[in-house]
Amino acid sequence: MAKASKLKKNKSAASPKQSSATFPKIKSDGTEPALLELFTDGIKDIYWAENHLVKALPKMIKAAGAKPLVAALTDHLRVTKTQVARLETVFEMLGKEKRAKKCDAMEGLSKEGEAVIEDTDEGTATRDVGIIMASQKVEHYEIASYGSLARLAKTLGLTDIAALLTQTLEEEKEADLLLTSIAENDINNKAAGE
Ligand code: ZN
Ligand code: FE
Ligand code: FE
Ligand code: FE
Repeated sequence: MAKASKLKKNKSAASPKQSSATFPKIKSDGTEPALLELFTDGIKDIYWAENHLVKALPKMIKAAGAKPLVAALTDHLRVTKTQVARLETVFEMLGKEKRAKKCDAMEGLSKEGEAVIEDTDEGTATRDVGIIMASQKVEHYEIASYGSLARLAKTLGLTDIAALLTQTLEEEKEADLLLTSIAENDINNKAAGE
């Protein structure tokens, strides 16, 4: 098992070097390749999203009841702040000004989270279930975003940036798995009894 994953890692680490030699950062006419522009826009989008989460997560933490859920969200707020800083490093590595571009999806997802709080009663397990559902939608959006961006960074030959994005991707997956285990032990059942 460990051997197989090591092999896979080596394989994926070898391919970006090839791309790095072939993909130009500036085209011969002096303009930036469209794919690099698309990638940078994706970074600006997730930068907006992460900054938005730094503001939105405290509301979810305040509304959550179960201790493990409060702890998980509190820890993810701390992690999210480091993800913001990591994206700022990505901007530096790209040689670009850090800039956020409004992420409509994350705005919508966080509105859903607020609606769940409005529509459920304080101190209930049902509210916690709703908060977990809303939070997992957020994590899945992030997993999709960082998964695509990390792959794209490799294609663009931006190996160091790909490594940073993969680090965040793993953190988002971890957060998602933790939320699932909190729901299953045993908030969902508790909510079913309310
Ligand atoms: Zn995020
Ligand atoms: Fe994040
Ligand atoms: Fe977005
Ligand atoms: Fe996250």
